[in-house]
Amino acid sequence: MMRWFVHIGVWLLAVGGTCAYGNRPYVEVARFRGDASGAVSLTFDDAFPSQIEKAIPILDAKGLHATFFVHTENVKETWASTWGAWRAAAASGHEVGSHTKTHPNLTHVRSARQLRSEIAGSADIIEQQLGTRPISFAYPFSGVNDAVRRQVLEVYLLDRSNCRIWGGEGFGADNGISHIERAVAKRDWFFCMMHGVDEVSFQPTTAKALAGIVEYLAAHRDTIWTETYGTVGRYVKERVMADLRFREETASAFEVRLMLPKRDASVETPHVPLTLRIAIDEHDGGLAKAYRDDKEVPMALSRDGDYLLVDCVPNGAWTKIVWGE
Ligand SMILES: [Zn+2]
Repeated sequence: MMRWFVHIGVWLLAVGGTCAYGNRPYVEVARFRGDASGAVSLTFDDAFPSQIEKAIPILDAKGLHATFFVHTENVKETWASTWGAWRAAAASGHEVGSHTKTHPNLTHVRSARQLRSEIAGSADIIEQQLGTRPISFAYPFSGVNDAVRRQVLEVYLLDRSNCRIWGGEGFGADNGISHIERAVAKRDWFFCMMHGVDEVSFQPTTAKALAGIVEYLAAHRDTIWTETYGTVGRYVKERVMADLRFREETASAFEVRLMLPKRDASVETPHVPLTLRIAIDEHDGGLAKAYRDDKEVPMALSRDGDYLLVDCVPNGAWTKIVWGE
């Protein structure tokens, strides 16, 4: 009998303990940036001139970014796909990833030295040319096995193997949009690979189809997050690893911080901001404000009106939320 009293006493203490955290609102990391329903990354392989001449202007006209996986020997001064052009693309927010140096199927490469040169050597060249080390890698012919992948992930944060190929006979904007709609309905991250645009290549995409898809993505930017493979990929990785910390919790305010474990030094990349969803519950969301380092930071309301949305960089400063009532 005594044991039961002790148990109840411990239980009451535990409940009493949680009362100290009664002011803590419900906070979670949104599945995608800005609490978007889904994410899309358009990727282009092989550094074709038409990607510079056609794809990038179509994307830039709507302010959307894509990822271009270049195999470095296909970047030449004799056509539009030059290092200068890729530097300009990177400067306007597009991602230049690696697709090796010479485009072999890496599972057929027998020499360890060549494998290293294709994987790490291509990253070195891109870094020399663009000033930043690539974080994303796409396997030529989607050729990958465990040994190849292990080596790739020692150099890059993200890899892309098999995915939906857009283009070829009969491919139009409607096809691409239906792939996107299906993925977004499942709250997925959709990515696809393209090659030339109105250019003789493996399954080229027409500029008309690409423009139609880009227009659709731009018109749906509130619900579909279109960003580079590297940015969405980092968001998804960080979202899974991030830990929420709280302090200074009162009825009228609290501070929150996102923490990530120290990352592997071999792939040192800046963190991307994650969007926090903060339940409004009984508060007045319209009066709430967010501060970081004593400066107000932008906050938005979720589409359902039940959450405040604020972007935080992991391992960055504490964010203070003041309810303002
Ligand atoms: Zn390729």
